[in-house]
Amino acid sequence: MHAFVYLRASSVDDALALASDPNTRFLAGGTNLLDLMKGDVEQPTRVVDINRLPLDRITELPDGGVRVGALMRNSELANHRVIRERYPLLSQALLAGASPQLRNMASVGGNLLQRTRCGYFTDSAFPACNKRHPGSGCAAREGSNRMHAILGASEECIAVNPSDMAVALAALDAVVAVRGPHGERRIPMSEFHRLPGTMPQRDTNLAPGELIVAVDLPPSRFAAHSHYLKVRDRASYAFALVSVAAALDVSEGSVRDARIVLGGVAHKPWRVRAAERALIGGRLEPATIDTAARASVDGAKPYRDNAFKVALTQRAVARALRTAGGSA
Ligand SMILES: Cc1cc2nc3c(=O)[nH]c(=O)nc-3n(C[C@H](O)[C@H](O)[C@H](O)COP(=O)(O)OP(=O)(O)OC[C@H]3O[C@@H](n4cnc5c(N)ncnc54)[C@H](O)[C@@H]3O)c2cc1C
Ligand code: SF4
Repeated sequence: MHAFVYLRASSVDDALALASDPNTRFLAGGTNLLDLMKGDVEQPTRVVDINRLPLDRITELPDGGVRVGALMRNSELANHRVIRERYPLLSQALLAGASPQLRNMASVGGNLLQRTRCGYFTDSAFPACNKRHPGSGCAAREGSNRMHAILGASEECIAVNPSDMAVALAALDAVVAVRGPHGERRIPMSEFHRLPGTMPQRDTNLAPGELIVAVDLPPSRFAAHSHYLKVRDRASYAFALVSVAAALDVSEGSVRDARIVLGGVAHKPWRVRAAERALIGGRLEPATIDTAARASVDGAKPYRDNAFKVALTQRAVARALRTAGGSA
């Protein structure tokens, strides 16, 4: 691990001022950052501990939505009464991630910014990784790529985003509230994470020095008919091969609105609008579910080891929809 200066912020303004050096990282739960620092993947010169900032609570919003502070721990959020009742999809996704010990430390902001688990990225002994060293190549393209993307990848990078929580937040139309040197801004979840394109070193559209202060959830329309399905190698403590956040707004048997977002298959939570269109306006019948499941892998491009994800995604979407609709 490289030497760094540890600083503790006492307020949001203080945190922003301490992060003026571009090679600064904020420290929340530390469950991802410290691992990456120990492996020399991340080499900040300054680490600003934000754990004393008052960003660790849920606030009810006047419009019926909810503001979740960026430092709220994943376990507390998953088990909060308001989340379990109004946003069970989010609760399920959080509880599907990591282990109880990790969830007790992991924060909302840190979860959104956790980095890919591509082994060529996390092991700095591998020289070819465009995400770690832009221009060095992508070892995963011809190497071990069982866990990698089938959708939205680029020549430069085929990694996937590892967060379960982000997939649910995308399905719930969440908005990330950010403070930075130039003030506040709000980033819809759909625009928060990026596809790799020619700049895989950039995971998100957060600017240097910006601090996530909260995630806002709009009033819940999907509580009665939603489901987070995670398919993984072990029943616990494993990242998703494929995951599906399915959220339906159903009235008198007819689907008024739908969200289908995939995890484990792309560099960002992958919203499948074609599958949603197949559902909206009709009843949740086997033929409709089948059409939506097939549409969910439109444009899929598997690599040597991960062709199985195409069929797995379709089956996972179908199962998640049946469960969300109450027919599984
Ligand atoms: C063994 C293991 C298994 C795991 N399994 C899963 C899994 O199955 N599913 C899953 O979703 N996750 C999984 N995780 C990841 C875990 O959820 C993340 O490590 C955790 O959510 C990160 O949160 P943190 O608060 O510890 O972040 P930190 O490690 O403190 O920070 C991570 C990054 O976010 C930045 N950051 C943190 N907070 C802010 C903020 N408010 N504003 C701006 N920047 C910020 C930091 O600077 C750093 O770059 C696993 C982790 C481990 C170690
Ligand atoms: S997939 Fe991305 S993270 Fe993995 S080796 Fe290639 S460039 Fe690096």
